[in-house]
Amino acid sequence: MAPWQELLRKKSVATLEALVAKFGPEHFPDLERLREAARNFEFRISPAMVDLIKSPGDPIWRQYVPDLQELEVHDGLVDSLAEDANSPVPNITHRYPDRALFLVSPVCASYCRFCTRRRKVGDPEKIPMSELESAFRYLEEHTEIRDVIMSGGDPLLLSDRRIDELCKRLRSIPHIEIIRIGSRVPCHLPERITPELCAILKQSHPLYINTHFNHPDELTPAAVNALRMLADAGIPLGCQTVLLKGVNDDPVVMKALMQKLLAARVRPYYLFMCDQVAGAEHFRTTVEKGLEIIRALRGWTSGLAVPHFVIDAPGGGGKIPLVPEYVESISDEEVVLRNYAGKRYVYKQPPANRQEDSARDRALPSSSFLPFPRPFSALPAP
Ligand SMILES: *Cc1c(COP(=O)(O)O)cnc(C)c1O
Repeated sequence: MAPWQELLRKKSVATLEALVAKFGPEHFPDLERLREAARNFEFRISPAMVDLIKSPGDPIWRQYVPDLQELEVHDGLVDSLAEDANSPVPNITHRYPDRALFLVSPVCASYCRFCTRRRKVGDPEKIPMSELESAFRYLEEHTEIRDVIMSGGDPLLLSDRRIDELCKRLRSIPHIEIIRIGSRVPCHLPERITPELCAILKQSHPLYINTHFNHPDELTPAAVNALRMLADAGIPLGCQTVLLKGVNDDPVVMKALMQKLLAARVRPYYLFMCDQVAGAEHFRTTVEKGLEIIRALRGWTSGLAVPHFVIDAPGGGGKIPLVPEYVESISDEEVVLRNYAGKRYVYKQPPANRQEDSARDRALPSSSFLPFPRPFSALPAP
């Protein structure tokens, strides 16, 4: 057993009894019902995350400790992104024209209570490793797929040998240009990032890793060191953060997180609205809170620190960007804009004799004009 596997097995908190023993029964008033919540979705907190909990109910605790609110379902959906409906063969979701999501591992080092895939993550029967051959055949036959995103579960919890095999098999498919790995291991189990693993990943370039940090405290010295090793292996690092109530729904916290990520050589990529998942609804904030956070970042700190704020649309619509409104009006003459500090500026459109170009710009298919009240209603009908 590799040292990281031993660490995960021996030092994780993975039963309610161990959790109660560690933090004291006074924090778990209704243990009977909590057992039900813990049965509904796998429960494990990796050693690094256990160490990070400063007090019950803090932002780290909230992400991993089961909560009675998980038993309340209002408008939550089991498969909120309709991933299973967009799945042509087991373990593949093919939603976009040129890229596919490939689930290669059923397990994680810690289980996030807000997991979008909580319907199947942690259950090897629902993310079956025996079915990978049909997935590989699908990827081989679909020559339009030039980007494969390995996810799960956490792909980096597989053994070195298994990761090597997966990467080599993907690399043997000529039309696959880039490989991506989505992993929370740099945060949850930084010990897993070893020189041996980096040497394997390095052979499959161009390979990108999107990791997942939600709070500035998660960038511990061990996590920062793991990220440095990956970056030194030439792997561009991104971060997919989820906006979570009581964890990071605060512009000050979010700015600190984004700045710390950049300092650790990670470029923030997405900030997700929390998906409308049954069992995770108590984590959801309003959409306005996300817009407020983006507004507090843009212009006030490095542009590199500003992720794309998106809603992954319920029902399988994919990721849809949300941008705070900086355009006051658009006419043939000018665009009226507000900058990050709220000051107004005017940008002149090109003069009439050059508007042939802009007329062509506007002759986009009508589907590019969504019924936004502003600024698009200011444009002439296409
Ligand atoms: C997020 C996602 C992708 C990748 O989307 P990008 O915007 O290219 O990062 C691909 N397929 C599925 C099903 C996804 O959910």
